[in-house]
Amino acid sequence: MPSPAKTRTVPAADYALLGGSAPGTQGSPELEQRVLPLLRDAVFATPFGDAPPISHFQLPVDEGESRSVLFCRPQAGMAEGLVGRPSEQRAQQTLALFWVLQRAGVVRVVSECGVASITQHFHPRDLVVPHDFTDFTRQHAGQLVPGAVLVMRQPFCPEIREVLWQRARKFAAEKATRAFNRAVHVSVEGPRMETAAEVAALARLGGDVISQTVTPEVYLAREIGACFATVAMVVNYAEGVRPEWDFELLRATVREGAEELGSVALDALVALPVERGCACAERRRLPGAADRVATPA
Ligand SMILES: [Zn+2]
Repeated sequence: MPSPAKTRTVPAADYALLGGSAPGTQGSPELEQRVLPLLRDAVFATPFGDAPPISHFQLPVDEGESRSVLFCRPQAGMAEGLVGRPSEQRAQQTLALFWVLQRAGVVRVVSECGVASITQHFHPRDLVVPHDFTDFTRQHAGQLVPGAVLVMRQPFCPEIREVLWQRARKFAAEKATRAFNRAVHVSVEGPRMETAAEVAALARLGGDVISQTVTPEVYLAREIGACFATVAMVVNYAEGVRPEWDFELLRATVREGAEELGSVALDALVALPVERGCACAERRRLPGAADRVATPA
């Protein structure tokens, strides 16, 4: 793959799509016929180092209307099986990515990812739209502005969750699978997988599904004042949930599901109302701005 040219001018965009986060993911929403590609795999230099490759496209929503979208795969290395990438490197790249999204003016971030079920309730090819998360990573990512206080009430934007849920339901009906509009996502660091004992412990702590994604993206989105939500496809059972999961089967599920999942996320971007009707933007508290803090009920 040719190394993309570095560019410094960040295009203006209200929306970001983060995708392709599970091993073997092939989906490329920016290649869908309905989008108009403007920039492919651009690398932006930031104070946190180079951001991962970012594409820019226009997404038609109505006659004559379109949305400006930045697309990135924050964990692209995993798609090539490079699961051993140091977490510190991923953390820096994610900071750089959100620095770019902030410069672009992004106010809504829709993400899609693959997860493992850590209970008996979720099965491969189910779609889940998590409503909350617990973070068991060591939080190497830090923040764009150290000291910014982030209120994590409703960490996943209810407005984006609603459109993801509606589209996930439609998908489930069409593909004879299931969709859930509530789940607690557990973020773990990797690259190693969890033991059966760890999975059992995380389930007892209230987790439903698990992956190495979602954080830090969910709280960096809040830091830049953007809404964030994710739609996840269950691609396997975590260790010990069901006997013996198979890596080849996992890859096949991801390959089949990746494009479909990208489509669900794109549909959600199209369906979002123009004006934000949620409180996400008011839930960050910057240093020295205590009197401007909104504390919605
Ligand atoms: Zn929101």
